[in-house]
Amino acid sequence: MNYSKKLRGWSLRDAADAGQLLEITCQFCRRTYRFFPHDLLKLTTDVSLDRLAGRFHCEVCDKSDYINLRVVQIWGSENGKLSVRRLVRINTVKKPIWEDGVL
Ligand SMILES: [Zn+2]
Repeated sequence: MNYSKKLRGWSLRDAADAGQLLEITCQFCRRTYRFFPHDLLKLTTDVSLDRLAGRFHCEVCDKSDYINLRVVQIWGSENGKLSVRRLVRINTVKKPIWEDGVL
């Protein structure tokens, strides 16, 4: 099913405000991951969801071509049933920048 039309004009911030979850499915491996939009907002600026799907890679096959993103509305009855991936921390990698000069 193609949700891209629905996702256009709906951003990460909109989904966070609406209390929705993002469900990322690799249709190649049938692997599903769920995320809280506000976790993703710590990693990226607010973007339209149809543009976000292409940024995900499946952890199993490492492909992004088969990623399907959909928005899941939480009704409360799912509490304790749905698995959700939480952001634990963001590691900042220290990257040295060198410049050759003279003494
Ligand atoms: Zn996969």
